[in-house]
Amino acid sequence: MTALRRKTTIRGRPMKPLDLNVMCDICNKSRAHGNHDKCSKQRQAEAAERRARENQS
Ligand SMILES: [Zn+2]
Repeated sequence: MTALRRKTTIRGRPMKPLDLNVMCDICNKSRAHGNHDKCSKQRQAEAAERRARENQS
């Protein structure tokens, strides 16, 4: 099973993790303003969903 170990890079789809520090990628507002609890939950839900879908195929 070690042969299936994942790499850190996401295949064919470069992401910008640093952008998350300043701007909210869910509501596109500065994370320094407002409440982004829902945004982070939604982001986690989308990530979990995406991951589950990848594991299925
Ligand atoms: Zn937000």
